[in-house]
Amino acid sequence: MHIVVIGAGVVGVTTAWALRKRGHQVTVIERLEGAGQETSKGNAGQRSYGVVYPWASAAMVRKALSYLMDRDGPLKMRLPPSIDTLRFLVSTLRFAYAPGVFGLNKRAMLRLGIHSRERFLALEDELDLAFDGGHAGLLQLASSPNAMTDYVDSAEVLRELGIEHQLLGPEAVREYEPGMRGDGPLYGGLRYVTDGTGDCHLFSRGLAQACENAGVHFRYSTRVSRLIADHRRILGVELEGAPGAPEQLEADAVVLSAGCASPELARDLGLYLPIYPVKGYSITAPLVDAERAPRSTVHDDNFKVVSTRFGDRLRATGFVELNGFDRQIPETRLQTIRKSVNARFPGAADLSAATTWTGFRPMTPDGPPIIGRGTRENLFLNTGHGTFGWTLSAGSAELMAQVIDGEAPALSLDAFRPGRFAE
Ligand SMILES: Cc1cc2nc3c(=O)[nH]c(=O)nc-3n(C[C@H](O)[C@H](O)[C@H](O)COP(=O)(O)OP(=O)(O)OC[C@H]3O[C@@H](n4cnc5c(N)ncnc54)[C@H](O)[C@@H]3O)c2cc1C
Repeated sequence: MHIVVIGAGVVGVTTAWALRKRGHQVTVIERLEGAGQETSKGNAGQRSYGVVYPWASAAMVRKALSYLMDRDGPLKMRLPPSIDTLRFLVSTLRFAYAPGVFGLNKRAMLRLGIHSRERFLALEDELDLAFDGGHAGLLQLASSPNAMTDYVDSAEVLRELGIEHQLLGPEAVREYEPGMRGDGPLYGGLRYVTDGTGDCHLFSRGLAQACENAGVHFRYSTRVSRLIADHRRILGVELEGAPGAPEQLEADAVVLSAGCASPELARDLGLYLPIYPVKGYSITAPLVDAERAPRSTVHDDNFKVVSTRFGDRLRATGFVELNGFDRQIPETRLQTIRKSVNARFPGAADLSAATTWTGFRPMTPDGPPIIGRGTRENLFLNTGHGTFGWTLSAGSAELMAQVIDGEAPALSLDAFRPGRFAE
């Protein structure tokens, strides 16, 4: 089968790999000049298999106002909000207060996280990819006694699903992260023993190269302008990029993995994908003192900033901002991120030499990604991965390939079904 994958972010590239391994002929179309250049470029680098949770949560809604009022608070929103933002928020509220939905979605995402970890381990065994990756665990800090109580509560579902974790006191936290010498408040932490890290951009590029070596065809700097379909099937895609008239490329099946741009391509086929671009920021700085740097990845609950070690670099990431596709990087956001790093890992990195980045999480109003069949029999969706696309990519790629090949997927896809927003 000739399968066209739209988008060479981490989700599209892992999907291409899974399909090629099954013997399909695969073409990946990417509007930018290489793989992993959009949201997969500067993310926090956590492969947080044990810390995946739905965006729509009543607990989060309760905290939203205080977060919005605080200058360093993690949630930002342009005022007045646009119609698109309001529509997204209303839909989020609907899911947040739907009885039982949060718990079901959280378990579905955690099961996908466990599956994804297995797929990553297999992939890393098979391919020698250089992406500053590791499996040294993930640490969530508790900067207040209340945060520690929340961790004790959330450990229950981890036990239920067999996810290895440790509740730690402040001394034990410092033993796992001895470089953490800052004076930020610390009441303990929750450690996810088998979680990992890695530079998603390097991984996407490296895996795209491995795909090419295995026969996958990549067309960069080429945009899919529309899907060509009759009432039953997708026939191919229309491409813009090469000089001259748009080109048509035939396909036996199409996988839509275009991140935040997925809705515009789906819309023509009567498929409603309410994916919203939830903005975040990161800085990446060279280490100056590795002894003072994180060993793995640390989530500072005080500022909701994540600090992750990539070899001789430190990546720090923060904010959840509802502001459409605005690509500006205000200095105040960077100040908060630097404040967090200095409170936990002072002197670890040269923050004045940091590169800065902003990107958009392709967020669904409830939070789980969209994995399954679309409105034509050979249209498939692997998109809307929101906050956890790097973590869930390897697992969701395998599930996608199983669906395309008509096999029973390794996990229930109910929480991820594309049609759930129209119900
Ligand atoms: C600040 C921040 C921190 C994050 N931290 C983490 C983390 O620690 N762990 C984690 O798991 N996740 C994290 N994420 C989320 C993660 O980065 C995303 O979920 C993931 O990158 C999404 O991958 P994707 O392939 O779906 O989208 P993208 O990487 O955006 O890829 C989509 C691709 O499709 C291409 N495209 C779009 N339209 C077209 C078209 N018409 N034709 C051709 N190509 C097209 C785009 O150019 C793009 O390259 C974070 C995100 C942000 C913003």
